[in-house]
Amino acid sequence: MESKIKQTVRDISDFPKPGIVFKDITPILKDPALCREINTALAAQLKGLEIDVVAGIESRGFLFGPSLAQLLNVPFVPVRKAGKLPYTTIRQSYDLEYGSATIECHKDAVLRGQKVLVHDDLLATGGTVVAASELIMQLGASITGYSFIIALDFLGGRDRLKAYSGNIFSLASY
Ligand code: AMP
Repeated sequence: MESKIKQTVRDISDFPKPGIVFKDITPILKDPALCREINTALAAQLKGLEIDVVAGIESRGFLFGPSLAQLLNVPFVPVRKAGKLPYTTIRQSYDLEYGSATIECHKDAVLRGQKVLVHDDLLATGGTVVAASELIMQLGASITGYSFIIALDFLGGRDRLKAYSGNIFSLASY
């Protein structure tokens, strides 16, 4: 699985800023069999975890997050960039590997006491999922784990996430 993902992902140097090697996962999406394998592998890694909701991060967390939630038979909720969600939201600002941003979720995205799995395509510095975790916790829910397709371990994101949950899964790491 890991070598298949690494063979398929395309490295784009200096995107969106000089010095960043962007992991382009769009070639994965052109391979439906690989997409199915990824969905199955993501769900398999989570066996035994109590998950009430999958929260996916805009925008690439929306590619596999909904299908993962369907496989787990739980709701999917979107965490989006500021200004995109139509209903009443709560928000959190954070730093990215390149720049900074604000994310939001609907105030009723998760319920008090629910166990939430946070999913994104890629873990870099961890800033995005830490901000998403803070949002979810503001609503009284807890973080049961994290699921990524790719983790850039040299950026130390895993260490930042451990404060929220030790259940940090990825299918390919660099
Ligand atoms: P971070 O908050 O630093 O963990 O950044 C994670 C978010 O930014 C994810 O939503 C990724 O899609 C995106 N991202 C950050 N760095 C990269 C990269 N080198 N290649 C592809 N996506 C990235």
